[in-house]
Amino acid sequence: KRLILIGPPGSGKGTQSPIIKDEYCLCHLATGDMLRAAVAAKTPLGVKAKEAMDKGELVSDDLVVGIIDEAMKKPSCQKGFILDGFPRTVVQAQKLDEMLGKQGVKVDKVLNFAIDDAVLEERITGRWIHPSSGRTYHTKFAPPKVAGVDDVTGEPLIQRKDDTAAVLKSRLEAFHRQTEPVIDYYSKKGIVANLHAEKPPKEVTVEVEKVLS
Ligand code: ADP
Ligand code: ADP
Ligand code: ADP
Repeated sequence: KRLILIGPPGSGKGTQSPIIKDEYCLCHLATGDMLRAAVAAKTPLGVKAKEAMDKGELVSDDLVVGIIDEAMKKPSCQKGFILDGFPRTVVQAQKLDEMLGKQGVKVDKVLNFAIDDAVLEERITGRWIHPSSGRTYHTKFAPPKVAGVDDVTGEPLIQRKDDTAAVLKSRLEAFHRQTEPVIDYYSKKGIVANLHAEKPPKEVTVEVEKVLS
């Protein structure tokens, strides 16, 4: 399957995507993760992306379209993929359609993680991440067995620099202004499935499975 996950920061995209990936054997491309890796490695891409990311603004369309174009060439992405955090603007959605059009394929479904803004601050400020695997924890909703430590590897967890209430505010503004129109773009094509993303994770997983079955 070729799937897109859209939702505001903290809506649960990263929590659900490994489950979808394991069940459907897709490649998982998260532009946020790729950009953070580039920033950490101080590559030319990372240097260009850092300022916007620190402020909670979107990185330019050209940069992200470039990394997605490159990543989608991987053999593991040929039969299907999950795009997590891309496209985030209508221009990115149009570019993606062009890329897929050249291969004669289309997006099958867009999962819209619908949720009220009010819930997101608590989710974002309590988020802890194991950077190398992408595993996500939450101090209250999904605590690790030992505080600050990954359950599987025993390695330390980190908090994202942009996971503060102040930066979340800009990220939500960017979402409403630039990314919500992407949902309309795909609604017109009749491929959007709306999820109740405020529900507990297991219930969201059940909804995802219903949509994909
Ligand atoms: P996104 O990838 O959409 O930004 P995450 O999946 O990283 O969001 O989730 C943000 C935080 O909220 C994480 O700490 C995660 O453990 C927690 N979380 C994810 N889904 C739920 C849920 N359905 N209910 C409560 N907390 C959740
Ligand atoms: P979230 O948890 O908010 O959904 P991500 O990890 O997907 O966050 O993205 C983190 C940051 O990376 C964004 O605030 C933005 O600066 C940048 N970013 C990620 N994906 C894109 C994209 N498709 N277009 C532009 N900027 C992006
Ligand atoms: P129980 O304690 O009955 O086994 P759950 O494990 O489903 O119940 O969790 C109870 C509540 O904790 C859920 O309603 C949900 O909001 C929250 N929760 C459980 N697992 C997670 C998770 N991985 N991420 C975020 N919140 C969670």
